[in-house]
Amino acid sequence: MAQAILSLNAGSSSIKFAVFKSEQQADPVLSVAGKVEGIGTAPHLVARDSRGAVLTERRWDKGQALTHEAFFGDLLDWLDEHLDGCDLAGVGHRIVHGGEAYAAPVLVTPETLAGMEALTPLAPLHQPHNLAAIRAVADVRPDLAQVACFDTAFHAGQPEVARRFAIPHELEDRGMRRYGFHGLSYEYIALHLARIDPSLAAGRVIAAHLGNGASLCAMQGGRSVDTTMSFTTLDGLVMGTRSGSIDPGLILYLLLQEGCTAESVQRLLYERSGLLGVSGVSSDMRALLESDDPRADEAVELFAYRFAREAGALTSSLGGLDGLVFTAGIGENAPAVRALACRRLTWLGVVLDDEANKRGAALISAPGSAVTVRVVPTDEEQMIARHTLHLLSQRQETT
Ligand code: ADP
Repeated sequence: MAQAILSLNAGSSSIKFAVFKSEQQADPVLSVAGKVEGIGTAPHLVARDSRGAVLTERRWDKGQALTHEAFFGDLLDWLDEHLDGCDLAGVGHRIVHGGEAYAAPVLVTPETLAGMEALTPLAPLHQPHNLAAIRAVADVRPDLAQVACFDTAFHAGQPEVARRFAIPHELEDRGMRRYGFHGLSYEYIALHLARIDPSLAAGRVIAAHLGNGASLCAMQGGRSVDTTMSFTTLDGLVMGTRSGSIDPGLILYLLLQEGCTAESVQRLLYERSGLLGVSGVSSDMRALLESDDPRADEAVELFAYRFAREAGALTSSLGGLDGLVFTAGIGENAPAVRALACRRLTWLGVVLDDEANKRGAALISAPGSAVTVRVVPTDEEQMIARHTLHLLSQRQETT
């Protein structure tokens, strides 16, 4: 019988979920995809089938509390009615931080959950929400198997030199090192590329996950060798509201000379910087591209400039570049940003096919381009489902 897996990506104000079905070890196939937004303000849930048709929609009154337990209880009950007799084999979660301990997905047990909780100080804005979802599912369905899939895991095999900061060893021993994020997205891209373009996948590729959070990953033969996010999700590219790389001296200046508190600097760098901070208009790339405000243009220019600067650095880590892959909201949908970013990489031999880029084709480099440029829609939920099925089938084999 086909098995179903529920993939969950739980954030502070939204939870994305997807149900995949799989038969006899075949690739999981999407059956339901949904999202609840506005948790804590005015929750709104929509679930769609694989063709995008709305299956259910619900709004909660403003201020009506929606606890994780109530939400997952309702969701799992609703799924029981919509799985067409398929067995829900388990739930897979996106967990932002796996630290040094988790270089691969793990089954959730009291021990592994405690291990993940211990990593909360490394990702205080994300990890608590990820773990709240695990606890809520365990509360309403204690017998349902749960698997934790880590955003850091794909980068765990990077060369030591790419993982280090130039700080004393004792700090590194306490976990202060470069981890990298968006790993489930990059792993999906690597697998997909190996299918559609195996020779490129075997080479030196930079994948660009450009969403509200944005990073680049240098991959050699499908493995991560370097990435722009590091100890936290603040590092690297300009993002929607996050600053990206910044001189650490600027933070010291804010604290020591300007009298800022650590909390206000945290809010500045995570919530008030990036595209929003520079433009003063919006954190949303689409809104900036549509705006007439010169500062919106300035923000987009800076985004492209820093993209190219970081891509240059990763090309050095790779010793050259064969391919560039764009993904996520901006990477998949904004030809103007792809064009601005690629123009700055002409020195590397990147030549876009402008018409293919505008059309949103899968292959957007010109025939003579030294670097193959592709657009690949990412699918982190699918990656979570694959890991979850794999781990559960291994568990069955050993019991
Ligand atoms: P998240 O990191 O929250 O998952 P997404 O991957 O959904 O983010 O990406 C969101 C970003 O993608 C926003 O900046 C949004 O404006 C941008 N985006 C989505 N569609 C378009 C589009 N058609 N043109 C330009 N930007 C777009």
